[in-house]
Amino acid sequence: MRPDKAHKGGEVELPIDDTAAACGAGCHAAKYRLVVEHTHNMVVITDRYRRIEYVNPAYTVVTGWALSEVVGRQPGEFLHGPLTCRTTLNLIRDKVRAGEPVEQAELVNYRKDGSPYWVQLNIQPVRGADGEVCHFVAVQADVTAQRRAREALEAGERRMREALSLARMAGFEYALSEHVMHWTPGAEAILGGGADELPRHLDAHIARVEPQDRGTLQAAYREVERGPYEIEYRVREASGRTKWLRERGYLDRRDATLRLSALVCDVTDGRLAQDRIDYLSWHDTLTGLANREQLQSVLRQRLSRRSDGSPGMALLFIDLDRFKTINDSLGHSAGDEVLKLIAQRLKAAVRSDDLVARLGGDEFVVLLVELHDETVVAPLAAKMLAALAEPMRVHDHDLHVAASIGLSLYPDHGGSAAELMRHADAALHAAKAVGQGAVVTFRPELHALSAQRFALESKLRQALPQQEFSLRFQPQFAACGGVLLGFEALIRWTTSAGEAVPPDQFIPLAEQTGLIRHIGDWVAREACRHWRTWADAGGKHLRIAINLSADELHDVALPERLSAHLQTYGLPPGTLELELTESVAMRDPARCIEQMNRLREAGVSWAVDDFGTGYSSLAYLKTLPIQRIKLDRAFVKDLERSANDRAICSAAIEMAHALGLELVAEGIETEAQRQFLACQGCDVMQGYYLGRPETADDALARVRSHAGG
Ligand code: C2E
Ligand code: CA
Ligand code: CA
Repeated sequence: MRPDKAHKGGEVELPIDDTAAACGAGCHAAKYRLVVEHTHNMVVITDRYRRIEYVNPAYTVVTGWALSEVVGRQPGEFLHGPLTCRTTLNLIRDKVRAGEPVEQAELVNYRKDGSPYWVQLNIQPVRGADGEVCHFVAVQADVTAQRRAREALEAGERRMREALSLARMAGFEYALSEHVMHWTPGAEAILGGGADELPRHLDAHIARVEPQDRGTLQAAYREVERGPYEIEYRVREASGRTKWLRERGYLDRRDATLRLSALVCDVTDGRLAQDRIDYLSWHDTLTGLANREQLQSVLRQRLSRRSDGSPGMALLFIDLDRFKTINDSLGHSAGDEVLKLIAQRLKAAVRSDDLVARLGGDEFVVLLVELHDETVVAPLAAKMLAALAEPMRVHDHDLHVAASIGLSLYPDHGGSAAELMRHADAALHAAKAVGQGAVVTFRPELHALSAQRFALESKLRQALPQQEFSLRFQPQFAACGGVLLGFEALIRWTTSAGEAVPPDQFIPLAEQTGLIRHIGDWVAREACRHWRTWADAGGKHLRIAINLSADELHDVALPERLSAHLQTYGLPPGTLELELTESVAMRDPARCIEQMNRLREAGVSWAVDDFGTGYSSLAYLKTLPIQRIKLDRAFVKDLERSANDRAICSAAIEMAHALGLELVAEGIETEAQRQFLACQGCDVMQGYYLGRPETADDALARVRSHAGG
């Protein structure tokens, strides 16, 4: 319906004063009427009491109310729907009451059929000659369509905001000519910070990025003309948390204005997972130290940056002595604890620039960088060993960990990471051969040694399955009367190529490689088996002694295994004697005593071997469940020449007797030595003079002749 048609023939005149008209009332009134009746805006005119005097045809078209139906009523009467715009309405009422104009108020009204429509309202009071308000002219524009569009837009924006926030994304556009950034709604949730902190300029955006990542972002913007970019960078939130953002952008050339258009998403979770993966691939998980990959990479990097005159470096390979024993006897969690403590101690011993790594097992490496004076390395290595040797309390045990160190120096011992590592490793093997607590610096000769060692080790692994071992038996006699008391079993190795390798060479290697347990078990069984042949030949009373390595002693399965051999071959308790060197017995005494007692219960007797070469105290010896002390050959050797050694021998004999122990003198090579020792009250004698280590057949013959005699 067109407004003009609705009002054709309307009986109500426009209540407009035409007193002010200059060109004649009719002329003006007609013009106003035309305007009012043909405008699409609704016009409502009330009297001073806000009673409707006039509504224009547009009003009827929009609301459905005819002029005749509304005249005399108040506009408020037509607000039949829910009062959603109460504040606006109150504002309008107050202004109207005060006779003030109302401008651009927006509110919802209701049509005759009850449906709502939105209007934008202007009310102008019209004053009479007396200055009093006599009418109000309200012009209302129907803004329902705009309103709907705006609501749809807002809803769309809301949905977009939700979608972006769900995708942890934000977007921005940056018109290159305007230098202003426009962010998508909710972008602050992704960028961190409040909405008012959103950067409005590229520079401000770059400034919010962590300094180390700014360069890449700047470069991406500089080169965006060449094509799209994708980069990840960090921003720090107010909480101090670092966020990882990925920004993908391109240059939008669709309009005349060039725009940088980009999407930014939060990739923190993925990045953290990646960081964790990176961390794991560069670190030893147990100790948190660098792993082999990191060590090699750092070493290579450092080497590539070196030039003439740069300071040197030192690579220290550190290996714990008999760590396997801790693992086997106290369990892996105790072993892990020890490794962690070692890691801490090593880290504490070096500077923060230096690198401490664990290559696996009980192998640690320290890389000393910026070395200006290589003479400091050996003392530093000694300091590390001292730090490691400090007792550590693990799972209610006081453990003492000794270690060996092999080291190579850059540039003296190699120019490549591989060479330096190989040489430090060769030095370490040499250090381990020297014994615990040794620090060995690489020398070219070690290279050959380590190759030799490697060859020997692979041959040693074959020795047991290929039956290359045999036993020799060295007789032991009573000092008084020369009666045969038993034999010490000594191992011999003749390789398949016919080469005889002395035990002093392969036993340490067997100990280091853990092969000693299998070898030791073979020795024990063979010794018991041979004893059986002696017993059967009338030598039931004879003892058979075997040598025990530290690693074997701490084997928890040892008592059971030995019991089995004793039982199989019928050895009475005390017949099998285990020889343990003084230094082994001195290490971790409490644990040692415990295991010795367990074995004593299993039926063995004990002798302390190589007595005098270690540092055992009398008080300590007293606590060991031993029956015999074997005075080291070194003291016997020079008896005839050295008064000092004579004194030591006498004192040792006296001491043994004071403790209720027998003294065995080893390495007797002359009659003079035998005589002296016999006079001093030595109990048992062993040595080339009395009998060399002999084959099983010879030993059996000796048993037979003694039994016969
Ligand atoms: P050890 O236990 O002190 O054994 C005594 C060593 O002194 C033996 O050397 C023996 O042949 C040697 N010997 C005996 N009497 C004399 C003498 O009058 N003069 C001299 N100069 N030497 C004498 P061997 O057999 O070469 O053994 C060396 C070391 O190897 C042993 O020292 C022992 O520590 C170790 N060993 C030998 N057999 C075994 C074994 O079955 N198991 C373990 N764990 N170690 C063993
Ligand atoms: Ca021995
Ligand atoms: Ca000995």
